[in-house]
Amino acid sequence: MATRMGSIRAERPHGSASPNRRYPDGRICSAPGCDARISIYNRNDRCWAHLGLKVPRLRGRKIGS
Ligand SMILES: [Zn+2]
Repeated sequence: MATRMGSIRAERPHGSASPNRRYPDGRICSAPGCDARISIYNRNDRCWAHLGLKVPRLRGRKIGS
């Protein structure tokens, strides 16, 4: 008879290391003239529109295409 002591289990409580991180609510975009409110999940100080993800603004000129 073999008695096993201390079987090793890989048990990790998830989310113990990094708690959900949120950012202060009610922040306003830092871009000049923009009053957009910034999501608490947005770690930047600018609204999504000013982060440069999508910039649909083309001034006058057509670039390439
Ligand atoms: Zn903005």
